Formats: sequence, structure tokens, C-alpha cells
Amino acid sequence: MGREDKEIFRQLQQALPEVRNWIDCYVEAYAHLAVPIVDLGFRRLSQYFDQSRLKNSKAVKVDRVQVPPLSQMGLPYFTDFEETSFIGITYMDTFFLAPPAHDCESTHFHELIHVIQWEVLGPDLFLMVYAVGLLAYGYENSPLERMAYELQRAFEAGRSILQLELQVREKTELMSKALS
Ligand SMILES: [Zn+2]
Repeated sequence: MGREDKEIFRQLQQALPEVRNWIDCYVEAYAHLAVPIVDLGFRRLSQYFDQSRLKNSKAVKVDRVQVPPLSQMGLPYFTDFEETSFIGITYMDTFFLAPPAHDCESTHFHELIHVIQWEVLGPDLFLMVYAVGLLAYGYENSPLERMAYELQRAFEAGRSILQLELQVREKTELMSKALS
């Protein structure tokens, strides 16, 4: 890492507690609207994910998906990210969906990949890997997003994916090693 990268890394680590606190509050505020994925009546998700994953992951339909106010938290490098209006975002085992994605099975699939990534990495490491990837590669090519988009394309094409959960776990674990 160069000196500038080290400085960004330090800023990220310093902001982590505040980011995590914002996420906890956001998830908590909408907990009463969170619906287990298994109850949503999608037909294809159970061909890809474990039943326990679909029971323990939740979706919240909102008008607008919110991201943490990172620039106010001492992280000036994420203004593009902050200003993007996302159709879905995952915080731990809960994801938030904007109107175009409320009933979109494919977006639910995509966000469920992120749920597994959150679980494998844990909150601090997920946020670090996500942020570092975003800065280094941009949104769609950041490693955690690229994995989700690639698998989503296979899902949309109707391809079966062998041992999806295991595949996501192993790939995500490799990413955390690359960061440390
Ligand atoms: Zn994503």
C-alpha cells in the first residue's frame, strides 16, 4: 500500500464504529417491516439457497434505499456512492429494496449473495473489503459486487449453480485473505 492508501485505510477503520452504528439503527428502525424471504412466494430462490438462508434473511420494501452519510463521517471519497440511488442494498441479514425491485426475484437473488458475504466476513471486514474494493475498482467491478452480478446473470439465464452457498463462502474467504 502507498502512503495515501494507508491514510484512507486508517480513515476507514476509524469510521467503522460510526458506520456500524448507523447500520444497526437503520435496520432496527425498519425491523417491523422486514419479511423473511421464504414468505415472499418466489419459486426459484429455493433451487439456489438453503432453506435456512431464506428463513433467516429478510427484505424490507422502502421508497428510497439509504446509505450511511459517509462524507459526514470523515470519509470524503465516497460521494459518488452516496449520491447513487440504489435499487437494493444489504445490511447484514436484511436487505432494503426500492420500488423497481420490490417484486424482482433476480434482485432478491443478488442481495442474498451479499447476505452470505456479510456472514462470512462479519460487519467490520465486510465494510472494509467493500470500501477498499469500491475505491480501487469502482462499484460494478468491486470484488463483492462483481461476484454478486456474475452469479445474478447465471440466475437470470436460468443456469443451475452448483453448491452456490459454498462457492460464495470460499470466494469471499479468499477476498478477506487478500486484504489482510
Ligand atoms: Zn450488490
